[in-house]
Amino acid sequence: MQFHEPGPAEDRRLSLTNLPIPEPAAGEVLLRVLACGVCHTDLHTVEGEIQPPSLPVVPGHQAVGVVEAVGPGRGSQLKPGDRVGVPWLYSACGSCEFCRRGLENLCPNARFTGFHMDGGYAEYMLARGDFALPIPTKIPDDQAAPLLCAGMIGYRSLRLADLQPGERLGLVGFGASAHLAIQVARHWNCEVYVFTRSPQHRRHAEALGAAWTGGVEDQPPAFLDRAVIFAPSGGLVPLTLAKIRPAGTLAINAIHMTPIPEMSYDLIYGERTLRSVSNLTRQDGVEFLRLASEIPIRSTVTHYPLDEANQALLDVKHSRLNGEAVLLIG
Ligand SMILES: [Zn+2]
Ligand SMILES: [Zn+2]
Repeated sequence: MQFHEPGPAEDRRLSLTNLPIPEPAAGEVLLRVLACGVCHTDLHTVEGEIQPPSLPVVPGHQAVGVVEAVGPGRGSQLKPGDRVGVPWLYSACGSCEFCRRGLENLCPNARFTGFHMDGGYAEYMLARGDFALPIPTKIPDDQAAPLLCAGMIGYRSLRLADLQPGERLGLVGFGASAHLAIQVARHWNCEVYVFTRSPQHRRHAEALGAAWTGGVEDQPPAFLDRAVIFAPSGGLVPLTLAKIRPAGTLAINAIHMTPIPEMSYDLIYGERTLRSVSNLTRQDGVEFLRLASEIPIRSTVTHYPLDEANQALLDVKHSRLNGEAVLLIG
């Protein structure tokens, strides 16, 4: 499902296209794709809020696939038949200041799956052997797909929010990422407060163990230690900061956000921290997949065939589903 030109998702921007099966170069593997999650970032790409360096491109960065072939030479531990996941971070340079500090998520030379490189809305794709993540055998294909972005970045958000076991956590917006993050937080015995307009998402949050649900205009019964915003709306930042205790943290899990309105310094005075979350490292991926298999995390998924990717994007856009849309391919 190839993407040629940005525009409203209603215009069904992706078209089913026959492309040759790509040849893996040295260090790459060819994957037969089994399933691919549909991320909000794909919607931002299709609608032009973020722009790939060149078009056309095949979106999709939560791809679960089986290694069919390994490129020439050494460089990969993977072998045919291995099941792996390909996240947003397709590759990083390994030599810049950020890569050397363990922050390959911030590598200026990073390439992103389904953005710089063709992604997983396809029957076949390439991946870097050293960046593809082996998937624990207990996790089925369709359950694994949402973990690869929604899950991993949600996990990084909880870590960057400095969430400690037993703390009170606020989740603002309750889509694909938050429904996985809540399961980690509950595993850590945190009390979780969920802010969402959608009655359907409130029920979903309650079923997953939320202690309280409401709207972002509502004041919860206690101040939050940490919060994560998942919705790309800058207006949520001051509203959420107002619910956080001194020395608490607000992390923003969004690749794109509307402008943050001018706000009173009082909202962050008291040593509150406001930070963004960008991308993920392989280490986040490995840790999170292990944790997801242990807990175990259950992804709520709605299945679509590959050629219904446009419909899946629309359903994501209009929050018509709980959890994540997943294309079943292989
Ligand atoms: Zn994503
Ligand atoms: Zn780098």
